[in-house]
This record gives sequence, structure tokens and C-alpha cells, in this order.
Amino acid sequence: MSAPPDPTPSGPRVVVIGAGIVGCALADELTRRGLARVTVLDQGPLFATGGSSSHAPGLVFQTSPSATMTAFAAATVRKYRGLTLDGRPCFRPVGGLEVATTPERAADLRRRHGWALSWGVRADLLSAEECRTRWPMLSDAVLGGLATPDDGLADAVRAAAAQARDAAARGAVFRAHHTVTGVDVRGGRVRGVRTDQGDVPADAVVCAAGFWGPRIGAMAGVPVPLLPLAHQYATTDPLPELTRPGAPGPDAQPMLRHQHAALYVRRHGDRLGIGSYAHRPMPVDLADVAAPGTGPAMPSVRPFTPADYAPSWRDAVDLLPALAASRVADGINGVFSFTPDGLPLLGESREVRGFWLAEAVWVTHSAGAARAVAAWLAEGRPGIDVRECDVRRFDGARLSPAYVEERGRRSFTEVYSVVHPARPPGGPRPLRTSPFHARHRELGAHFTEAGGWERPLWFAANAGLPRPGVPERDPWSARHWSPVAAAEARATRERVALYDMTPLTRIEVAGPGALAHLERLTTNRADRPPGTVVYTLMCDDTGGVLADLTVTRLGPDLFQVGATGPLDLDRLIRLAPDDGSVRVRDTTPGTACVAVWGPRARDLVQPLSRDDFSNAGFPYLTARRAHVGAVPVTALRVSYAGELGWELCTTADLGAALWDTLWEAGRPLGAVAAGRAALDGLRLEKGYRAAGTDMTADHDPYEAGLGFAVRLGKGPFIGRDALRRRAAAAPARRLATLTLDDPSRMVLGGEPVMIDGAAAGHVTSAAFGATIGRPVAHAWLPAAAAAPGTRVSIAYFGADLAATVAAGPLVDPDGTRLRG
Ligand code: FAD
Repeated sequence: MSAPPDPTPSGPRVVVIGAGIVGCALADELTRRGLARVTVLDQGPLFATGGSSSHAPGLVFQTSPSATMTAFAAATVRKYRGLTLDGRPCFRPVGGLEVATTPERAADLRRRHGWALSWGVRADLLSAEECRTRWPMLSDAVLGGLATPDDGLADAVRAAAAQARDAAARGAVFRAHHTVTGVDVRGGRVRGVRTDQGDVPADAVVCAAGFWGPRIGAMAGVPVPLLPLAHQYATTDPLPELTRPGAPGPDAQPMLRHQHAALYVRRHGDRLGIGSYAHRPMPVDLADVAAPGTGPAMPSVRPFTPADYAPSWRDAVDLLPALAASRVADGINGVFSFTPDGLPLLGESREVRGFWLAEAVWVTHSAGAARAVAAWLAEGRPGIDVRECDVRRFDGARLSPAYVEERGRRSFTEVYSVVHPARPPGGPRPLRTSPFHARHRELGAHFTEAGGWERPLWFAANAGLPRPGVPERDPWSARHWSPVAAAEARATRERVALYDMTPLTRIEVAGPGALAHLERLTTNRADRPPGTVVYTLMCDDTGGVLADLTVTRLGPDLFQVGATGPLDLDRLIRLAPDDGSVRVRDTTPGTACVAVWGPRARDLVQPLSRDDFSNAGFPYLTARRAHVGAVPVTALRVSYAGELGWELCTTADLGAALWDTLWEAGRPLGAVAAGRAALDGLRLEKGYRAAGTDMTADHDPYEAGLGFAVRLGKGPFIGRDALRRRAAAAPARRLATLTLDDPSRMVLGGEPVMIDGAAAGHVTSAAFGATIGRPVAHAWLPAAAAAPGTRVSIAYFGADLAATVAAGPLVDPDGTRLRG
């Protein structure tokens, strides 16, 4: 029995817009955390509201390339397995089966099996015969499959109702037929919502309005970067094959996915339901979506378009030949949300305090995502790394309707595609370019894009450089890579190279409160003499790593912070005191930065400057204003490559002049332009970690090997108490550096690390180490297995690749080259 509602609830008033699966899960999770004054509003009836959840077939496949998304799905399975409504379950653990009909897809199932092992999902690779035992209707074209016995079918409407019931028992109120017509924002903070039934005051508002999110966001002045798209789902006539004696019953037959044809299949008693992502993207204009109760169908359902479905039906018949005797009995074009990167939009908005988003969430991830948002709202932290889902990851032009539409369409067409982790994203491109872009094109740069920025991976102009000892790779890992990257890395170690560091976020923190602000937010001591560069971290109050930064003190009240992206900027702004004593400014778009790294960096820079670039005059981890040729720069003596050198920053208008000056002077020294692919290998050889990739909020600095960046004695800072406790305990796991024994084998990240035949950890990042002549990886391992020399293997497409734990940095462990 649930406890009766608190008769005099206190605490913040939270309004949740939308009583779909996400809104109801949120109400449940918020009230579980003691927030009893929760009001959930929906324009439709409860709980078949007419939103996407009302018709979702509810397939829950947990495994994905993302650890966070898999954790969200696993939390959903755990919760819905125990959920009943009127004595009947809300989740049926029928299991999942993904099948392959091509060698490429069969290989991809082995890759997916690796993710399942990495993230702790039960999974087994099956032969074709084993697949047919589970699905006797399958055609002979099936080569094999991946079975995931803990996956299953969620009944979204009933799961929503059951969670709403539990939330109501703790005091939450659900209001049907309340259409939100406005959001009351005053002084940058949300105050409530307006509805067609009157105003509802609130201290926090969560937009869980599904694909209507952009409309609600517009009411608050908050961009919600998602695209509503229609997706086809059809049910067949009754099929005798499903009911004949000996056939698996509906609860014994797993859900089926045939990703190569972008199809998924589930049982509805004696019929099949078949969904397809193979059709053309069908964006839906919110202006064309009927209000609840005004159209012939529920608002999220568009008329079925048989012509779009016809090719999918043929594919379905190829997969399940018995379907030839059946037909589509019923179909819909159901609408739901697609974001530019296919991931949800969670968290408090950048623009309006107290206005939160829980958008673009599938049924699959609903309970896990809701739990994270509820914990974040109630307790100040989501309890899991949500970086890749944080709505604030999008900024600037990446919020434009044109960007959201083009990327959203692509997210739709790629739902079931085999996507290489290094594949450059599609358009609109180029969007953000550094002032060196034209020069990079002249040098034949191969670009990728991240955060909207064009980033050279390697340069065709370097194809003639020597690259001894770079073995051929397997075709998969050779994609979006070139051995030229190894030549650029060698040129960096042996001579000097220019790297475009412009896309890395640069933030100016200034004012009389700047030092105290940085001391409070970061783990290392920021209070150093002007001209000092400090490597530091931002942690949450549990000691989890949110970011790694360089903090450069340029004056008593002036700092330049080198960060990774918009989330770091947002934190520095959001937590700044509101008394005007600190000014935080993103200087990235208006500036440019080129790194000059390699043993001949000084030979290149010094003759161009009257400033002192000698070791004594300009030591490692110092910074100063200087001139390089005619260009004023802020020079930082730091190196992500682990070599002598400087990052030279200037204003965008002078960027091209800076590049040209360095380029001209560098030619006689054998300087090259080098790209991200070379830099990845160089930083891994040096053991440098990348926040967000190697460690996240789920890890503390000590286990990540970054304890040196934490000064517990410096005075209070966010996370200090937790870090004090963590420092005193022996870490249970460690981020280790591995080398692969066979130089010709490669891994790319996300693969499980196996010890004694069981998954013991996973790879976070990997690249070819051109200096040591073999691949290098970072991986999380149990502390006992992280001792130098420990032999492990990495499962890569089902092959066991032998690897060895390294003792520490593989190149220049004493930092002699850096300090030279
Ligand atoms: P919704 O269920 O749409 O709820 C949003 C609510 O907000 C609605 O009830 C709406 O009435 C309300 N609302 C909107 N505007 C207002 C307003 N102004 N005032 C008040 N209330 C408002 N996901 C899976 O995980 N597995 C699947 O197998 C699967 N299959 C799918 C098949 C189809 C055909 C479709 C269309 C989607 C499928 N999905 C699947 C996706 C899944 O259905 C959605 O991602 C999920 O249901 C979204 O839940 P939600 O609560 O965010 O949105």
C-alpha cells in the first residue's frame, strides 16, 4: 500500500506539461524524491492522451553504442518489469532478436554484442538455426542473430497510468483537457503556465510535451531542437503460422529487428505489427496537427500512406515469407521526435531558470531519463553522466530550424544504419570555420565536424611524408582514417606541426570575483601569479568529473579558460554570482588559435618575435601576451601532443595572418599542418585523458588518474568533501592505458575488455601511436586488473585482440620534451 498523500505538502511547485510516458514517469520519480506538489497537465484525456505514447508499439531494446542510453533503457526495464496495473503487468519480457541477412550486418551484430558486454546487457550471438527456433517464420536468408533475453514489450499507456497512480498516491495531481497556452517567465525565471482552464503557478516547469516541445519552448523563449516526423507502423491480418500447434506463444516469441531493411516486428496476438524506418522522412508541421478531439484520429496519428510502405512490405515478406499470404490490415503514420544527433533533450534550459526539458525520449528510455531529470531537478544532479543528452549541448547556429531539420531528417533515416563512430556528420556544412579554413582546403584537408566546427583530420598535402611502420588496418577501422595521420604525428615528434585549436572553447572570466569563482568551481589552485597556466577539473558535488580545463591567469582579475564545449561555458555562467562581480564571456567565435608543437617549435616561433620564447623566459605552463610577426597573440606554453610548443591565440581577423606567418617560417624547418587524427594518437601516447570521453561525471579524478589536479587543501570548492572521502579510499577501478600486442589490429572505443572470458571493463578511446608503432587505448578496468603488464583482451567484432596494461605514459614519461 502506498502512503496517503501528505495533507500539507511543501516544497517547490512543479508543473509537468504532458502526461505521456515521460511526463508520468517524471511525476512518479519527482514524488519519490519528496516533491509532492507536482501537477501534470495534458491537453488530451488521461492516459491515452493522443500523444506518441498512445500508439507506440513499445519495443524496448536496451543495447546502444551509448553507455548512458543503455543505462536509461536498463533502468526502464527494471522499473516496468515490476509495474502492474489492475493486476496485469505493464512489461512483457519477451526478449529481443536482431537478425542479419548480409555479412556486413552479421559483423555489426558482433559489434553490438560487444556493446552489450561493455554495458552489462545479457546478449548471445545465435546461428541461423537458433534464430529460426525462436522465429520459425524466418526465411533462409537469415545468416545469424543477436538475442537479448531481458529486452521486452512495454505497454506505454498502461505504464504511464501505473506510474501516474503511484505519483498521485504521493500527492501529484493530473489534469486532463488542460491545454497549456503560455509560459509565464519573469526576470529570467519561470513563474507558472497559462492554460485554457486558468493559470497554474509553478517554481519549476518541465516540458514533457513530446513532439509538441518546440511549441511549448517558444512560449517560454526556449529553443527545443527537435523535428516531428511521421513513422510508419502497420499490423497484418491474423496469421495461421502464429497459432499453429508448436508455434511459440505471444509471450515466448521475441521482438524481431531486421535493421538492414530498417524493419522491426512484434506480435499482437495472432497478428504481427511491423514498423519501418525505410520510408522517406516525413516532417510534420505542428500547425497541421489537430487539437485533441477535433480530428478523426488522435493528434499524433497521420493517415497511413500505403505507397510509402509498399517497399517495406516487400522486405517484410522477404524476411517472413508466410506474410505473402497476408496483407496490411491497418496502418498509421505516427508522429514522434527526432533531434540533430538522435539523442534526447534533457535538463534545465539555458535561457530560462526553472524551465526544464524532458524531450525526444523513447518509451525505451522513459523511466531512466525521467529518473535522471527528476534527480537533477530535486537534488541538483542527475546521478548519471548525461552530457550527451544535456539540452545545452546545442548552441548558436546548431539551434537554427534549418540545422534541426536537416540533421533531424538524417537521424530518422539512420535509426537502424550501421554508423561508423568516426563518420563525419552530414550537413549543413561547413557551418563554423576557423580563419585557417581556406588554407586547410588548399592543403587538401579531410574534415570532420564536431560542435558545428570543421576540423581537419589529416591533410592530403602530407601524403608524401615518410610513414614507416604503419601497418594496414582492417577495412572497418581504416574508414575515416589515413596512414597520413601517422606521418603527421611523426613530423610532430621529430620536427614541428601546426594544429588548428580554434574549435576548442575559450572563455574569458573577468572581474573582481573571477578568482573566487574559479576557485569555487575548479579542483586545482587558480590563485597563481598572472602568467600561469593550470590544468584543472570541474567536478560535481559527488566528486564526479564534469570537465577538464586549462585556467590561464592573464591578470589579477582576468582569466582565460580553455574548455571542451558549451556545457562547460554554461556551468561557468550559471554558477557565477549575480552581483556583477564576475563576467563570463565565450570568446571562441571571435578568436582563433593555432598550436605550434614539436621539438623545433622554438626554432619556428622565436625568430618571428622580439618576445622571449626561451625556456627560462617562457617556461612550461606559463602564458603571456606577445607578438608573432605583426600579430598580437596570447601565447600559452602547453601541449596536448606532449611536445615543446605553444598555443597562440589571436582575434579572428588576424587568424589568417598568424597562420601564414607561421607557415612561411616553418617551411624550411619541415613544419607540417597536422590534424585531429594525429593528435589523438599523440595524446594517448602521453596518457592524456579527454573529459567526456575517457572520464565523465560517473568517475572521480583519482580513479581517472587525475588526482594531481585536485588540491584538497586549497579552500572550499564544489566536490571537495566528496573528493576528500574518495581520496582516502582505494579506487575499485582505474582508467588504464593499454597497448595492443598486434600493431595491425585496431579498436575504436566502446569495446569490452575481457579478463578470463568475462567483460571486465571497456575501451573509452583509441588511436594508432605512431611513435611507439602500435595502437594505444584508454580503458576502464577493475583496479586489480590495472597493474602494469596485466594481459587482457579486447573483443572487437567478436575477435579477441591481445593487449597489455602499460606502466604510464608511453612517450616522454618524465615530461622532458615538454619542458625542453
Ligand atoms: P507523448 O506521448 O507524445 O506525450 C506528450 C504529451 O504532451 C501528449 O499527451 C500531449 O497531449 C501533451 N501536450 C502537448 N502539448 C500540450 C499542451 N500545449 N498542453 C498540454 N499538454 C500538451 N519508442 C520506443 O521506445 N519503442 C517503440 O517501439 C516505439 N515505436 C514507435 C512507433 C511509432 C509509430 C511512433 C510514432 C513512436 C514510437 N516510439 C517508440 C517513440 C515513442 O512513442 C515516443 O518517443 C514516446 O512515446 C514519447 O513520449 P512522450 O511522453 O515524450 O510524448
